[in-house]
Amino acid sequence: MGSDFGVTGATGKVIRAAGEVQEEVSGKVSAHARAEKNLTRVVIIGGGACGMAAATKIRRQSGFKITVLSCDSHTAYSHCGIPFVLGREIESFEKLIIKTPDFFRENNIDVRLNEKVRSINLTGQVALTGKEAYPFDKLVIATGSLPFIDRKSQANILPYGIFTLRSLADGKLFGKALETAQTVCVVGGGTIGIECASALKKRGIKPILITRSKDLLSSQFDSDMSAIVRAHLETLGVEVITGEPLFLPENFWKERTVYVKDRHFPADLVLLATGVKPEVCLAREAGIDIGKAGGIAVNEMLQVKAGGEFLPNIYAGGECAEVTDLLTGEIRLSQLGTTARRMADVIGNNITGKYSTFGPLADPWVAVAGDLQFGGVGLTPEKAERRGIKVVTGFSHGRTRASYYPGRKDLYIKLHFKDGCLAGAQLAGGEGIKERIDALSLAIKKKTTIKDLLSLETCYAPPVSMLVDPLMPTVKDAVRNMRKDMTN
Ligand SMILES: Cc1cc2nc3c(=O)[nH]c(=O)nc-3n(C[C@H](O)[C@H](O)[C@H](O)COP(=O)(O)OP(=O)(O)OC[C@H]3O[C@@H](n4cnc5c(N)ncnc54)[C@H](O)[C@@H]3O)c2cc1C
Repeated sequence: MGSDFGVTGATGKVIRAAGEVQEEVSGKVSAHARAEKNLTRVVIIGGGACGMAAATKIRRQSGFKITVLSCDSHTAYSHCGIPFVLGREIESFEKLIIKTPDFFRENNIDVRLNEKVRSINLTGQVALTGKEAYPFDKLVIATGSLPFIDRKSQANILPYGIFTLRSLADGKLFGKALETAQTVCVVGGGTIGIECASALKKRGIKPILITRSKDLLSSQFDSDMSAIVRAHLETLGVEVITGEPLFLPENFWKERTVYVKDRHFPADLVLLATGVKPEVCLAREAGIDIGKAGGIAVNEMLQVKAGGEFLPNIYAGGECAEVTDLLTGEIRLSQLGTTARRMADVIGNNITGKYSTFGPLADPWVAVAGDLQFGGVGLTPEKAERRGIKVVTGFSHGRTRASYYPGRKDLYIKLHFKDGCLAGAQLAGGEGIKERIDALSLAIKKKTTIKDLLSLETCYAPPVSMLVDPLMPTVKDAVRNMRKDMTN
């Protein structure tokens, strides 16, 4: 996916360049497409981040007949806001609904909720829900993911009192149960588990956060950075247990106890935040190729393939589709709303005749627990080591404001370099995290060297920074480590 070189067309427009969403915005829609535009039937399966953004993009750019089929009971809402409603920072789940059903009606987008697509007939070009058949000229599969539940934990049986959190309806159900809960066990040390544990504490509930991984955020952070997140959670009052699998008794609904090795904890409820897996059953059963990362295999235009052949009128995007890693070139999944949204743009363009491609990803991410923001982008040393890639790291601990300015917070930065170029970053601190990660994400995409970063010009004002931005000592530390490496 994605092309590795940039081509400048005769018009001076960049048609392709590595790692970016590219659009050929010449607006040249063929005569055939123009004649067809009012007749073209687009069916979108999935009314989540990718599906709804694709629908609105296609509407903006065409007069096509658009139908969205979703088995969810809500649409166009922010999943990302759910932990903050649970923590009562946002007053209700309704506030997370970004666009109402009226918006879609007014824009002539036919959204059918509670409508599960049961099969797709590729040759007959029809999606079947059991109730109705939806013929299509173009199809978008944006079925997202399903919660991943580890069978060994015995939690595949979900009796009353054990919850997962994927949809707004899940959030409402869990939120209702929280009204009478005093202690909740959150299973999973990823961003959602952490955000939820912190939210529960804020709401006055005692959370226990358990992960069988050695550290929190084990696939995203080094041990020392995850220790910062752990220490913060413990300061908030979250009990954190790592490196131990949880045992959930089958009669949890009665016993209200969870077991960790030789200890046991009372818990009114359990929230399983143990990750997700792409929802590809529908695609697989239709004969669409599933890739080695377990998602729908797509090309750079996000078209799917069947029997090894790409299908020009069928697209997949969001968490159900595979992506290419910018740093390793490997095929993997990307479980971020930002990725789903960008894929929707590419699909919308391609469906309406504006050529777009989707390039490899560095996956910048950020999360917030209490007063701590943490996030990263690109390669981690652990991932690099597993692939035999050597990285050199720089670390620094700075502050977010001038020494005399009130309210200054800690800021921890780690940068990883591969072959002298920035390849990854991990940050945690009280403020200024997202902006730095976004800038570093661009630096990674542009293959910025350590030398380039040494001459980086940064801006300064006492309430928002130190005179020397904490990024600079991090780069200098990496230079020292690089020299040490060369002399050893
Ligand atoms: C609690 C939580 C917090 C999050 N926080 C963040 C964050 O802070 N930042 C971030 O970048 N990302 C975050 N995410 C991830 C982000 O929400 C997802 O990456 C994004 O929603 C994926 O979009 P999608 O369209 O692929 O899937 P979804 O938004 O899940 O949409 C999939 C849709 O497909 C429907 N569907 C599935 N199968 C069928 C079928 N057979 N027929 C009809 N409909 C079907 C589903 O009902 C659903 O409506 C969070 C997710 C959760 C759950």
